[in-house]
Amino acid sequence: MGLPPRIGFIGLGIMGRAMASNLLKAGFQVSVYNRTRQRTAEFADLGCEIAVTPRALAKRADTVITMVSDNAAMDAVMEGPEGVLSAFAGGNTLINMSTLSPDYTSALARKCYTAGVGFLDCPVSGSKGAAEKGELVILAGGEKPLVEKFTPVLKAMGKAVVYAGAAPAGTALKLCVNLVIAQLTTALAESAALAEAQGIAPALIFEAIDQNPAMNCGYFSLKKNNILNKDFTPAFPLKHMLKDARFMLVEAARRKLQLPVTAAVETLLAKSYNSGYGEKDLSVILANLTETLGQESTT
Ligand code: NAP
Repeated sequence: MGLPPRIGFIGLGIMGRAMASNLLKAGFQVSVYNRTRQRTAEFADLGCEIAVTPRALAKRADTVITMVSDNAAMDAVMEGPEGVLSAFAGGNTLINMSTLSPDYTSALARKCYTAGVGFLDCPVSGSKGAAEKGELVILAGGEKPLVEKFTPVLKAMGKAVVYAGAAPAGTALKLCVNLVIAQLTTALAESAALAEAQGIAPALIFEAIDQNPAMNCGYFSLKKNNILNKDFTPAFPLKHMLKDARFMLVEAARRKLQLPVTAAVETLLAKSYNSGYGEKDLSVILANLTETLGQESTT
């Protein structure tokens, strides 16, 4: 890819922390920015430069990678006098790996192209564990030669790069993939709630699924501990799936497509969010189902 890129990485949350670490391990020159400074300490210890603002980071990097929560967080790091766009020069590249809305992504791509900056939308499939192992599946949108140029960078964080087409195609594909995850998680939670209500140990669901090669899916194993031990330590915070479900419904409505199951899942996610579970793992929807069951059986 010619000269190695000078990477500026923004967003050291659950996913970004692991992704930036893997870039470092792969030998890339990485400087970092995170809104909460405390989260940069471990990178300072590794000899990384820590930027005090997104602008300062963009000034010393030719490639900026973002992994922040949502559209509002992206605005906070891109826009304004201290934002990335204020410092980014022609010839630089922005690779957004956060899950943002397709509309927002298109607008961001246009801003970059106008400034002569390359843009890729590369959201990821895979959660905390896959990020830590460098085994994410990267859903890439943008001009294909630029995706190819940055494949060594992407491969430092993931095991596969799936090219989807011009931006925001990576984001559009990500929503399709997350639709499946949203429904699988809900299916597991509802199944466990029904088992409990019938006096069946939820562990038996996993035993039965494990024995059936047609149903034995890695995602179910990943969520087994969450469901059986009601341990909702976040790998994928529920608030992020609520955001994504809403993006899916907006995109579907725009095309006059109905997604009735996704709409029901969004209602369940919103209920969990409103119960104060936004920061917990997505599998916490189980808590809402079983709490409701408890309340109803006592009235
Ligand atoms: P997270 O742990 O909640 O981290 C969010 C990051 O965004 C933090 O670095 C946070 O900074 C930053 N941020 C939030 N609001 C900000 C603002 N207003 N200004 C500046 N920075 C802000 O999220 P995550 O789980 O790593 O997910 C990141 C993205 O990847 C999301 O779009 C999510 O949907 C997507 N994703 C997540 C998973 C998963 O399993 N977790 C999997 C695939 C995709 P602070 O440290 O200051 O809060």
